[in-house]
Amino acid sequence: MVDLPSSPAALKHATWPDVEALYRSVLNEPVAPGDGEQWLATWSRLEEVVEEAGTRAMIAYTCDTSDPLKEQENLRWSAEIFPRASELQVQLAKRLLKLGFTRADLETVLRGMRTDIEIFREENVPLFTKLEELVSEYQKITGGLLVDWDGESKTVPQLQPFLKSRDRDVRERAFRKQAGAYLEQKSALSALFDGMYTLRDQIARNANFRNFVDYSFAAKHRFDYSPDECRAFHRAVEETVSPAVERLMAYRRKALGVEQLRPWDTAVVLETEAPPVPFRDVSGLVQPAKRIFRALDAELGGQFDLMAREGLLDLDSRTGKAPGGYCVKLSHRGVPFIFMNAVGVPEDVNTLLHEAGHSFHDFAAHRQPFIWQRATGHEAAELASMSMELFGLRHLGQPTGYYTKAERDAAEIEQFEDILQSLAHIASVDAFQLWLYTSGKGGDPDARDQEWLTIRNRFERGLDWSGLERERVSRWYRQLHIFEYPLYYIEYGIAQIGALQLWRDSLREPAQTLERYRRALALGGTQPLPEIYRAAGARLVFDAEGMRDLVRLVEERIGELRAQ
Ligand SMILES: [Zn+2]
Repeated sequence: MVDLPSSPAALKHATWPDVEALYRSVLNEPVAPGDGEQWLATWSRLEEVVEEAGTRAMIAYTCDTSDPLKEQENLRWSAEIFPRASELQVQLAKRLLKLGFTRADLETVLRGMRTDIEIFREENVPLFTKLEELVSEYQKITGGLLVDWDGESKTVPQLQPFLKSRDRDVRERAFRKQAGAYLEQKSALSALFDGMYTLRDQIARNANFRNFVDYSFAAKHRFDYSPDECRAFHRAVEETVSPAVERLMAYRRKALGVEQLRPWDTAVVLETEAPPVPFRDVSGLVQPAKRIFRALDAELGGQFDLMAREGLLDLDSRTGKAPGGYCVKLSHRGVPFIFMNAVGVPEDVNTLLHEAGHSFHDFAAHRQPFIWQRATGHEAAELASMSMELFGLRHLGQPTGYYTKAERDAAEIEQFEDILQSLAHIASVDAFQLWLYTSGKGGDPDARDQEWLTIRNRFERGLDWSGLERERVSRWYRQLHIFEYPLYYIEYGIAQIGALQLWRDSLREPAQTLERYRRALALGGTQPLPEIYRAAGARLVFDAEGMRDLVRLVEERIGELRAQ
């Protein structure tokens, strides 16, 4: 009988040898015929405590990065324990497959494990380590970018508010500073990408794949769609989304009263003079959110209340907190945790709705018995979060939500305008990444920049880029996914189109749509992706026909709101 730690707290100070001993005891435990399920339950419980112990260290560190002890503990888990655990997990998966134990709701999990084992190559381990080093080099360079703003030194994210300024000169200056910061580092970033490209190509070949795209589809468990369907997705965006964005840009040009719409004119909000202030403190963020989730669904409302009550929300921006926002699950306790840096801007409201969508997914999927059944790919995870952003729209106005009627309408227009613009951007990034790893020219710096311009011209319409070619090129160097998470991006597009289908249904039948949403979330990872979407009442859309109706609906909605 394996002696497992009773809770993640018991592993707080664990080192790799402690954790390794636990894995080995599960690996070596004798299993009588017919006892496969029990053995799997033991392994699952071990993963729960190990994963939560690491997650707790990560939460503690990101909430207080100034504490060296917390930094050390987090590093021990992320850099020492987890990478080594992954090798033993491959061995445990092999044992599971050998035991031959299965059941219907484990099939998709086992398919993933089988693939992980098939593509695993010992000789790729050091190549992944080298890639990690290049990634941290990218993070170091881009994280350290500073620009001079009226004598003050600012980071690139700190320039974002100026891109929304009513003053066109301020917007242009912010745009040029941002692009300039990346252009200064262009040759260094390009050299980094050369190194990444060579390593990725080698990794794919070592695992007997033709190219890194085919390898990545296997590694990402993309069993239900192919690179060709991604290409169809790009064509569908080009046919349906890009013309809609072009119309929005024409409206924008008139509303701003400018001759030509320039790239620094796309973010300024047309409907309100100044951006609204949705809340003043954390309570002002949390209380309306509670009301919104309760208005949507009693069970979801109860779950969010529980998170607020049990300290599972850390939302305010404080010195010492890591930047950004995330939702992470505590696998042993069976509850999620949301981290944010809210400062009182409308984006914070969207972020909270988004992360709450992930947390509802975690609550629902935790009812699955084994830890692997509770995890899904990003295509399903982002369906949960992006749908919640759209479900929330109708409740954003007071007294339930944050805004006056005019502010709420403006927020909805902005959300939908962003969705259409971002779909065009997603198609660009995905088309570019497929080209990088299949054209044979991904290692040629000039060819890369040239191809990015060609692709941008294809998807991005209605803007005057004359004289700004270099600035336009700089955009792909800023897209960290291309460097850090290769080929990860199309998931957002697939999920966004899925979320639009749920939003459309929610206009007709809100309660039933929420019911289907919860049912889909509760499947966790026990079903293939198309089945999860089907349970939510949606489908995976790669075709122009499917996309066209949704784009039309979004455009009509924007028109309606503007006509009021
Ligand atoms: Zn998300």
